[in-house]
Amino acid sequence: MKFTARLSKFMVSCAVIFALGVALLGLHAQDTAKNETHGIATLNMDRAVKPGDDFYLYANGEWIKRTEIPPDRSRIGVFSRLDEISSKRTADLIGEAAKANAAPGSGVRKIADLYNSYMDEAGIEARGLTPLKPALDAIAAIHDKRELAHALGETLRADVDALNNTNFHTPNLFGLWVAPGFNDSEHYAAYLLEGGLQLPDREYYVANSERMKQVRNAYETHVSAMLKLAGFADTDARAKRIVELEHAIAEKHLSLADSEDVHRANNTWSQADFGVKAPGLDWAEYFRGAGLSKQASFIVWQPSAFAGESALIASEPLETWKDWLAYHEIEAGSGVLPKALADEQFAFFGKALTGAPQQRPRWQRGVTVVNRLLGDEVGKIYAERYFPPEAKARAEAMVANLVAAFRKRIDALEWMDPTTKAEAQAKLTTLYVGIGYPERWKDYSGYEVRADDIYGNVWRGRMFDYQKDVARLGKPVDRHEWTMTPQTVNAVNLPLYNALSFPAAILQPPFFDPQAPEAVNYGAIGSIIGHEISHTFDTEGSAFDAKGRVRNWWTAADLKHFGEATARLAAQYDTYRPFPDLSVNGKQTLAENIADVAGISAAYDGYHAALGGKSSPEQDGFNGDQQFFIAFGQNWGSKSREAALRQQVMTDPHAPAEYRADTVRNIDGWYGAFAVKPGEKLFLAPGERVRIW
Ligand SMILES: [Zn+2]
Repeated sequence: MKFTARLSKFMVSCAVIFALGVALLGLHAQDTAKNETHGIATLNMDRAVKPGDDFYLYANGEWIKRTEIPPDRSRIGVFSRLDEISSKRTADLIGEAAKANAAPGSGVRKIADLYNSYMDEAGIEARGLTPLKPALDAIAAIHDKRELAHALGETLRADVDALNNTNFHTPNLFGLWVAPGFNDSEHYAAYLLEGGLQLPDREYYVANSERMKQVRNAYETHVSAMLKLAGFADTDARAKRIVELEHAIAEKHLSLADSEDVHRANNTWSQADFGVKAPGLDWAEYFRGAGLSKQASFIVWQPSAFAGESALIASEPLETWKDWLAYHEIEAGSGVLPKALADEQFAFFGKALTGAPQQRPRWQRGVTVVNRLLGDEVGKIYAERYFPPEAKARAEAMVANLVAAFRKRIDALEWMDPTTKAEAQAKLTTLYVGIGYPERWKDYSGYEVRADDIYGNVWRGRMFDYQKDVARLGKPVDRHEWTMTPQTVNAVNLPLYNALSFPAAILQPPFFDPQAPEAVNYGAIGSIIGHEISHTFDTEGSAFDAKGRVRNWWTAADLKHFGEATARLAAQYDTYRPFPDLSVNGKQTLAENIADVAGISAAYDGYHAALGGKSSPEQDGFNGDQQFFIAFGQNWGSKSREAALRQQVMTDPHAPAEYRADTVRNIDGWYGAFAVKPGEKLFLAPGERVRIW
């Protein structure tokens, strides 16, 4: 699981990355003032607010008052400020690459050619719809459901990820995820996930709220507009049928909360099983199209959705499916097709869906494209330049302290069985923590990039990723593999690898500042590191053992206690209502909320251990413990547009930022630090505080 929602599913979903991707990235400077002072950002605080009433506003209120969301963005916060730094650095690296005139085929040349081909707007306009035509002609030539199955197989990509960077969304009929096997963690297995929707989640199709009805109407208009721009006739009727088909697909989908339940996902199907368990689609033809005829078995994440979607292939008219396929093809390429299509896509997926009134400048979108398709090639240079060995050493020392804090907490748990404790300790022993950048870089030598062909570059890049993953099936697992680039401002837990990664781009102020006091570093990045370690032991982590195998290592009594404690946390989050008609979903966000509570608890211990009995320096009258909690609260300072926040509440496993800051109410140390009293809004009696670790 990744640490924050900032990378929306659109960042990793191919269909809309080019139009929308950077709409959620931050590139406008917002001074949090932490940088200059090497401590908490006191200027961002609203000291008129009582910390016990609203800790989020207390820590961030003045920043919220003086900050406006830039017109090309749907949200802004600390993560976006760091994104700005990382993106500018990346843009500089790309600019240098573009001037270097490097040898053809070299990594630097590929970066330059990819970026330049994206920036060549005149060339894109001149080529018009020509790049799209072969795909649309092929779809028009489909005669029967067998050929349809083959064509659908050809669209399969490695664009979903159930447990690492977590993206459950693909607009293709299904999505492939290649990862260590549930039943054989030493080798890579093929996981298949439900798909077929352009809107972010099934809820957008089935929810009855006024807002979702508006979205659906706007969506149908958008589908029609895209078809028209691509040269189709009778587009209103086609759009109606396409949206109805997607609605039918959505009804077969599992909810996000159910998809996150790893215990429902371990379903191994042989190739022959598909025809029996999910009749309708010609599966042999589908797998032939996908180049997977030789793959003996798959792990089917949502079996009922596969049965449902496959049945729709049989029951719905061929012409409707062909229109659906054509529309999805247009949407997938529109970010790199003429401006009229890219603009229409932004008007819906950017403006209508996330509320950002303006599209990001083209160069920023170009950076996103290069990061998406040549991420490690850029990351190699980035890490060398911006992540010195001293920073790596200091961060590694913090990780060691956090792991030690978890060891002590596990030993001290009264409710946990000794055998379960031993398993938990074994997981900490084999845990691999990657700091800054991977030990081995991805090899792009098989990826052909041409300076005058952005459409082909994107298509080949997605295909390159897919074929690389398919080629790994059955091969031994690389336990030190990374799933994020060093220039990504995020962190991730990889449960099947029993590994964590903290990219270089998040290990910088205000999260991590080698010149700041321990209190601030532990409150900020320490709680993030603790959060990721905690995933090793949470609802998800309890399903994986020290070798990443799916094996429940908890006793029934342990699980019962854990279930009760976490149900209380889910209930706590269910009470949060960002909108009168929309509450936070305690179940959907449970794993992340557990990780937040555990992360700050362990960080608090780690901080006190790091002091080694010495007292912490004061800053502006705030003592060490206060700085620790304020630094934690300031991780979450952010502003979102209403549409983007609604989308997050409905589709993301992470709760909105303000509730993540307010989780300090579960930590005993916070009450002492700010003298929080009964009657204050966040006050919980000691028995009501949720203690999990
Ligand atoms: Zn997490």
